[in-house]
Amino acid sequence: MKKKIIIIIATVLLLFVFIAVILTSVDKKIIRKAVPIKGRIAIVIDDWGYNLNNLEIAEGIKQPLTCAILPNLNNSLLVAQKLNNLGFEIILHLPMEPKEKYRLEKDTILISMDAGQVHSIFDQDLASILFAKGISNHMGSRITEDSRVSALIISEAKKRKLYFLDSFVTAKSVCPLLARKIKIRFAKRDIFLDNLDDPGYIKGQIIKLRDLANKNGQAIGIGHDRRNTLVALREAIPQLVKAGYKFVFISEIAK
Ligand SMILES: [Zn+2]
Repeated sequence: MKKKIIIIIATVLLLFVFIAVILTSVDKKIIRKAVPIKGRIAIVIDDWGYNLNNLEIAEGIKQPLTCAILPNLNNSLLVAQKLNNLGFEIILHLPMEPKEKYRLEKDTILISMDAGQVHSIFDQDLASILFAKGISNHMGSRITEDSRVSALIISEAKKRKLYFLDSFVTAKSVCPLLARKIKIRFAKRDIFLDNLDDPGYIKGQIIKLRDLANKNGQAIGIGHDRRNTLVALREAIPQLVKAGYKFVFISEIAK
């Protein structure tokens, strides 16, 4: 008799524990859902491929980063592989002719090129940037103001099911309009994070990006493969996650 009572009490206790565990997990889910996301932020790091110096800092960033890799450089292939292994999104950072007199990368797309030349540069570049989910323009103030060449580039990207991220180096870019016409998945930069290679300036730009994401629901920031930029992001991103911001890849924003 005593044994029976003990078994019954034990069973009832176990049942209580079981119900309590289920209730707390349901509670947690409800609480997690109840925290509203303050905005989605996509960070793009441009100009990878020159060296591997900042990979270790990037490795410390445990949130989505989109990495735009220059083709044809000594480290293009290796850095693409390593960043892909870290779980980051890879895109081809296609060099395009600017209006300014900068030194041009090899196989920069020029205003004078025809469809065949654009096509063959695309083929070559994509062979060196494996895993590319999209493309973005490196420089290109002259090209992105030109409908003919921009349409060639956007069409080549669409054929390969890539999205197009307009780095938006000129306010006169025709790419937003063309992207809608050609029906490619498209996104556009909101804020450059590191026009000055200075930690204080970069922190200020990250705050501007946060405020824009809060206001518009999402924001895209572009920085470069530089020590100050990556260190600032490694520090700021966990704080922004804690504050309720969600970091996403450009593929999650491009539409
Ligand atoms: Zn660039």
